[in-house]
Amino acid sequence: MREQLVDARASEGTDVAVSMRGVTKRFGDVAAVDGVDLDVVSGEFFSMLGPSGSGKTTMLRMIAGFEQPTTGVIRLGGVDVTRLPPFDRDVNTVFQDYALFPHMTVEQNIEYGLKVRKVPRAERRTRVGEALATVRLQTYGTRRPSELSGGQRQRVALARALVNHPRVLLLDEPLGALDLKLRGEMQIELKQIQRHVGITFIFVTHDQEEALTMSDRIAVFNAGRIEQIGTPTELYERPGSRFVAGFVGTSNLLSGDLARRLLGSEGTFTVRPERLRLVTAMAPAGPAEVVAEGTVAGVQYLGSHTRFHVELEPGTTLVVDDQNRSDSSVDPQSFVGSRATVAWSRDEVRQIENQ
Ligand code: ATP
Repeated sequence: MREQLVDARASEGTDVAVSMRGVTKRFGDVAAVDGVDLDVVSGEFFSMLGPSGSGKTTMLRMIAGFEQPTTGVIRLGGVDVTRLPPFDRDVNTVFQDYALFPHMTVEQNIEYGLKVRKVPRAERRTRVGEALATVRLQTYGTRRPSELSGGQRQRVALARALVNHPRVLLLDEPLGALDLKLRGEMQIELKQIQRHVGITFIFVTHDQEEALTMSDRIAVFNAGRIEQIGTPTELYERPGSRFVAGFVGTSNLLSGDLARRLLGSEGTFTVRPERLRLVTAMAPAGPAEVVAEGTVAGVQYLGSHTRFHVELEPGTTLVVDDQNRSDSSVDPQSFVGSRATVAWSRDEVRQIENQ
């Protein structure tokens, strides 16, 4: 199991930026991180995704050196750093609250780390200029943090970390304080910046959409352990466990009697709501489709699509996402209580390996 979790692509013949082996962190009785093996490849945008309390921040803090593992080894660029203090590690962290110095200008904030490391003045100026350009804040250098918007402050925090050219940049829910629209914009920008600078980013989030949007690969955490590592498509299309199927997007799980009856198979299966459709007179079920009948228990209008909750039997509901078309004139709520037939192609069903 442990070997499987260390992705072959990450460990064979590639340049590994961060490697963790058998890493556990205990706080008293709590195992915040419980026997994790992980390789993060140089230059990748790697996300650690999981619900609150699953151990993501503790992982990040151990890579940064703010916490020491109870057991296990952490290597940065092949060098064992397990017992090294934060300032001896080639990493920088961007925190959710930005932690900018309020009395310093934007330029002074960005320059600070270089000054501490006694980088000569001329080089400091060049590097601060480059960092400001990377985050598109060239004209904001003389402002103070209080004179900036949330998104701009976020970019200063990013520039302050990038200016040090770290091997790895650690980001702990850095977009958490931004409103939804700005958050979406920053997700795209952050990914562009990461590609541009080529630094390894390790990004912590509990937001699955955010992780899917930005990451090259994602590790899904549950109760201190990694449930699955994969690309966004792999996690979404082939979830390896019930937990991943439920946490990464919405999924319909078919198991036990239901799987036997509908699919004629033993085991647990998953099928995504957008792969299901409601059968109509105009679009009847095809011979190769799986068909289930039920009652529409609820309808959510979500703009681009409408989500139907179809109850097959008490306690068993299928979620069906139906794309909205501009010519649709029927109020979706009028379907509540009516009988419905759900159909989907057998090819869309995935078996879950780990129950
Ligand atoms: P969130 O998304 O809420 O930040 P997380 O996935 O980052 O959660 P962690 O902050 O790593 O989770 O916490 C994992 C577990 O370890 C939790 O049960 C938490 O209460 C516990 N924990 C973390 N830090 C400490 C600490 N310093 N002392 C005691 N327990 C801790």
